[in-house]
Amino acid sequence: MKFLEYYKSAFQESWMPGSFEDREFGALLFREKMMVRHKSFRQSAQLKEFLCDLIPSDVYYSSAYYEEPATSEMSEKHWLGADLVFDIDADHIATSCGKVHDQWICANCGFSGRGVTPETCPSCGGQKIDTKTWICEVCLETTKKETIKLLDVLMNDFGFSSGEVKVFFSGHRGYHVHVENEAVRSLDQMARKEIVDYIVGVGLDESLHGIKETSGTVTGPNLTDKSWDGRIARGTYELLLTASSKELENSGLSKKTAESIVKRRNEILDSWKDKGPWSSVKGIGLASWKKLISRSVELQSAKIDTVVTTDVHRLIRLNNTLHGKTGLKKTEVSTDLIEDFDPLKKAVAFEKGTLEVFVHESPEFRLSDSVFKVFREQKIELPTAAALLLLCKDVAEVTV
Ligand SMILES: [Zn+2]
Ligand SMILES: [Zn+2]
Repeated sequence: MKFLEYYKSAFQESWMPGSFEDREFGALLFREKMMVRHKSFRQSAQLKEFLCDLIPSDVYYSSAYYEEPATSEMSEKHWLGADLVFDIDADHIATSCGKVHDQWICANCGFSGRGVTPETCPSCGGQKIDTKTWICEVCLETTKKETIKLLDVLMNDFGFSSGEVKVFFSGHRGYHVHVENEAVRSLDQMARKEIVDYIVGVGLDESLHGIKETSGTVTGPNLTDKSWDGRIARGTYELLLTASSKELENSGLSKKTAESIVKRRNEILDSWKDKGPWSSVKGIGLASWKKLISRSVELQSAKIDTVVTTDVHRLIRLNNTLHGKTGLKKTEVSTDLIEDFDPLKKAVAFEKGTLEVFVHESPEFRLSDSVFKVFREQKIELPTAAALLLLCKDVAEVTV
C-alpha cells in the first residue's frame, strides 16, 4: 500500500500545524469511507503512528483550538479560537474548460452526464449524485488566479504579512489559504462573514469607492488606486478592453450604448491616462456605470467557498498529507512564488519507481514533466505517481 509507504518513510513528525495539541484531528478511512474524528495528539510522533496504523485516504485537522479537542461533544470541547481559512476549489467555480472532464451519475435512476454536476438529477429529481472528476490544467490555473486575487486583498487591504498568510495547493483542484495570527483567532462567525462579504464584494456601495456625479460630470477611481477603488477601476478597464457588445448588454447596458462603447474602444482606453472614462463616453451616465461596475466587481472578487471561512469548527486537510482522490500531497506554496507554482510537479509525493496497473479509461494528462496519453482497457507500467493518480481516480486497478 503506497499511502502507508509515504506515511512511514516520507512523512515527517515535524510537519505539524501550530499549537497542534489544541486541535482536533480526523481521518477518512479508505475501505469503510468512514470518518474517524475527535482525535488529539500531545506529541507529533503520535500523529505519525496514527497515520501508519489507520492508513487513511484523507487527513484533516481543525482550524479551531479547543481546551478539550478529543471530546466528541462539540459543546464540551470549549472553543478557544480559530485560524481564518479560505478554500478555493474548481468544484465551485465556473471554469472555461466547462468541466467536460467530469462525469456525474444519479445514484437513484442512473441518469448521467458530463460537465458541471447538477444540484438535483434532471431526470428523477434525486439529490444523491455520484461524480467522477478529473484534474485539468485549466481548472488548476483558474483556482490559482483566484488565490492570487485573495492574497492581494489579505495582504494589501487587510495588511497581513507574508509570515501570517500561508498558501497551500490542496492536492486536488484548488488552494487553501490560512491566516494564523492572534488577532483573527477570536473572530466569531459574524465577523468572519463580514470579511467574506468584503472579499467577495457583497453589498459594495460604489459611491463609497469614488464614483459620483456632480452637475452632470461623472468621476471615478483610477487604476492605481488602493483596495476596492482600484479593483473597480481595473475591473471596468478589463471589461472595456475585452467585452463584446453582447457581453456589455448582458451587464445591463442598452444595445445602442454597448455598440457605441465597442466602436470607441480605443478612445475610451486612452482616457485612462487622464481622468478615466467616467465622463468621456457620451450616453453613459451614473446608472450605466453602476451596472458595469457590478460586473467588474464580479470579475475582480476572489471566488472563495464562503461556507468554509465562516465555519469556526471546520476540519481542513493537513499539510503534507495525501489527497485520496489523487495521491498528490497538500503542498505549501510561498506567497511570492505562487505565480510560477506548478502543482502537478510540486505536489508529486512519489518520485521514484513504477507500478503496473490495468487502466479502464483515462484522458491525456501531465504529471511533472511527463505527458501520458489516453489509455483504454490496457495493462501498462507507469511511474508510481501517475499510476496512483489513476488508482485514486478509480479508473485503474492494480494488476495481480
Ligand atoms: Zn435520477
Ligand atoms: Zn477543468
